[in-house]
Parts: sequence; structure tokens; C-alpha cells
Amino acid sequence: MRSGVDLKKRGSGLVFIISAPSGAGKTTLIRKVMEELFGLQFSVSYTTRPPRTGEQEGKDYHFVSTAHFMKMVERDDFLEWAEVLGNYYGTERPNLENLELEGKDLIMDIDIQGARKVLQEMSHAVAVFVLPPSPEALRERLVGRGLDLPEVIQRRLTNAKKEIEEAHRYRYVILNERLEEAVETLKAIILAERCQKEKRSIFEIKIKEWEAYHGKNHG
Ligand code: ADP
Ligand code: 5GP
Repeated sequence: MRSGVDLKKRGSGLVFIISAPSGAGKTTLIRKVMEELFGLQFSVSYTTRPPRTGEQEGKDYHFVSTAHFMKMVERDDFLEWAEVLGNYYGTERPNLENLELEGKDLIMDIDIQGARKVLQEMSHAVAVFVLPPSPEALRERLVGRGLDLPEVIQRRLTNAKKEIEEAHRYRYVILNERLEEAVETLKAIILAERCQKEKRSIFEIKIKEWEAYHGKNHG
């Protein structure tokens, strides 16, 4: 672990891990939630896969060559990295102190292997799994997205079964059937986790406030 960064530290910004089979709708969900809730920072991963139409360097991913990616692996730049369907994906070590100072929580879109590794280092991370309504619906979404060849869609569907078998390990599962409902559910999870964190950090301050109040008025 890097010096000076205690990833298990309580009171640092919250970390949300979102996993789902490709096509289940997690990018759509994350984008909408980030438009509607303040204080969320998206963790931009590194990948060796080429950009899809509309994807922007530095916003959706950092698109790098395999040689560049492997240099980063050697330098121990990644909190976690994994191979997903023939491409490499990695999450750079976050600067949690800076995020805390900026009052931001981190939101990561990572696969089940990455989620497992992040949870080993940051046991307080909140893991959320997004489920598609059915195999048929997932297939329709992948076809409708229009970005993958038929054989890639088939591989994604085979992979989806393995991923869904991991869903029970996550703290929350969201069924993404009606998009607006799924967006509201993810927002509710984030807000509830923020209230839990608030409870830990402001409890003592509030008790002191009330002690001072009673001391002044009745002491
Ligand atoms: P992922 O990031 O999980 O691979 P995307 O967010 O790219 O998935 O979504 C895949 C496709 O499914 C997109 O075309 C998106 O517009 C569509 N989609 C997402 N959520 C829903 C939903 N609840 N109902 C119908 N279509 C959806
Ligand atoms: P896509 O190519 O569809 O954007 O992503 C494919 C898969 O890679 C998804 O399951 C996504 O969650 C995962 N992924 C994206 N970034 C990372 C990362 O940094 N680490 C890991 N382990 N998986 C990632």
C-alpha cells in the first residue's frame, strides 16, 4: 500500500462500487444519478479497449495501449486491475484525502473481480449490483445499444450468468427494469449511506452542542 494513504480510514469520503453485466444499464444509471445528486465523483478507469462512439477520453475512460497499461501495473499505480473479455481495465489509486476535502464521494464502475479486490482494501466501500430484468431483456439492450458484433453479444451473455451468480455478495441489488425507478433507488442508497456516515461524524458534535445549551440555560 502507498505511504500516507490509509484506505481503511473511517470518516473518509464514501466509495460506491457499481457492478452489472455489460448492457444492464449501469452507465446510464450512473450518469443520471450524477446529474441529480451533488458531491459525486466518477472514478475514470484505464482501459485497453478502443473508445465506442460518443465516449470521451478522460470522461468515460482513459484509453491507453497495452504497453502503457502494463507500465502502470509495474509502477503499482492501480488499486485493482482485471482482464474483462479480452481487454484490460484498471482503477487508479484514488486520493481519498482530496476527495474528503472536496466533500465528494467516489463512484466506481467495475466488474466483479475488481469489486472483490477493492472490498479487500476498502471494507467500508458500498457495493451495489445492477440486475437486468431477464436474459431476453439484456440481449435486447445489448442489440439495441448497437455497439457490439453478434459474437461479442453472445460472449457478454455467457459472462452475465457468472456475474449474476456473484450478486448475493453485494450489499445492495437494484433491478433495472423501469429506468426512473432504478435511478431513484440508487439515489436512495447513496443518500441513506450518507446519513449513516453523518451519524458517525456529527453525533459527538451534536451532543456537545446540547450539553452547552443546557449548561447555559439551566446550569
Ligand atoms: P452498461 O453500462 O451496463 O453496459 P448501458 O448503460 O450502456 O449498460 O445500457 C445498455 C443499453 O440499455 C443502452 O442502450 C441503454 O439506453 C439501455 N437501458 C438502460 N437501462 C434501461 C432500462 N431500464 N430500460 C430499457 N433500456 C435501458
Ligand atoms: P465496458 O467495456 O462495457 O465499458 O466494460 C466492461 C466491463 O469492465 C464492465 O463490467 C465494467 O464494470 C468493467 N470495468 C470498467 N472499468 C473497470 C476497472 O477499472 N476495473 C475493473 N475490474 N473492471 C472495470
